[in-house]
Amino acid sequence: MGPRSLNNQPQTEQLLSPEQVKVKVTHVLLSNFDALCYSGELPVNYPKTVGRFATGIITECGEKVYGLAKGDKVFIKGTRPCLKCLHCKKGDTDNCEHIQIAGIDFDGFLRDFVTCDYRRVAALPDGVDAVSALCIEHVAFAENIYDQLKLAPGSKVAISGGNALALIVAQVAMYHKLVPIMIVGDPACAEKLKKSGVYFSFVNDENLSENIAAATSGIKCDASVYISASGISSDVASSVLARDKTLVLEGMASLNYKINSLPLLRHNTKVICVTDGFGYTESAINMILHGAIDLSGIEKQVLTEFDPAAILKEKLSDLAHDHKLVIAKLIF
Ligand SMILES: [Zn+2]
Repeated sequence: MGPRSLNNQPQTEQLLSPEQVKVKVTHVLLSNFDALCYSGELPVNYPKTVGRFATGIITECGEKVYGLAKGDKVFIKGTRPCLKCLHCKKGDTDNCEHIQIAGIDFDGFLRDFVTCDYRRVAALPDGVDAVSALCIEHVAFAENIYDQLKLAPGSKVAISGGNALALIVAQVAMYHKLVPIMIVGDPACAEKLKKSGVYFSFVNDENLSENIAAATSGIKCDASVYISASGISSDVASSVLARDKTLVLEGMASLNYKINSLPLLRHNTKVICVTDGFGYTESAINMILHGAIDLSGIEKQVLTEFDPAAILKEKLSDLAHDHKLVIAKLIF
């Protein structure tokens, strides 16, 4: 209803057009993003339902729905084109100027049913498990980053942060034959990442620049991804870059922070911002199917009875250490 005000309200969902599907929501990932929607730190146009990442089962299909049928398992896309900008009006929704995000611009998915255009869901193949399916936008997000970076195989990519998103960004880098170098806040997190298959994983301490030099033969990194809720200074992310390289400011769970311009100017750094995985859903599903990500090292909690406000408050208390995937399982 407003910042830190979450109510459970009855609502009806029915098919309004022959191009819509009705989906019974089965799983919702409760993330830092949802916590920031709940707290009011993100610019939510209240009232809005929380829940950006969700999967479900189709219970009804309109007559003009293609490629989907009742009973299909689907991923519900957390981003949509605005349908109002010039690109959208010309039918070029892929280049929408105002990508809409669930939980901020339209209702999120922590509810029993979602009715939407069939193009706003993606069929889930049998080989994609429930937990990986909830991370489809994370993989899509990583794809969006690497598509823009266009790095050659063997390039070194620094990733500042140690949460689930950071690990997925690192695993997608390895899938593309890039070398991730993770910078984290504490030694326990660095150890965990090494066990998850990330070879270079360093603590942000006084040895960092020496470690980065050793990992990059002294030439520093080809790109650096700064995870905004990492608790690490953005200046660390820019300090590991070689000259003329790119700093990626990740904003899936956007926070307001300051960044020092002088080091960026001195090194001719290019800065890009990535806030969603819009347009990469299908390729992300394909990558998951081909084993691009391994979430076995991440702690998970699947809840059938839960208090969403309590979960989101707990996330807010320590955004930087968001190691646990908290999943709400909604049953019939
Ligand atoms: Zn648009």
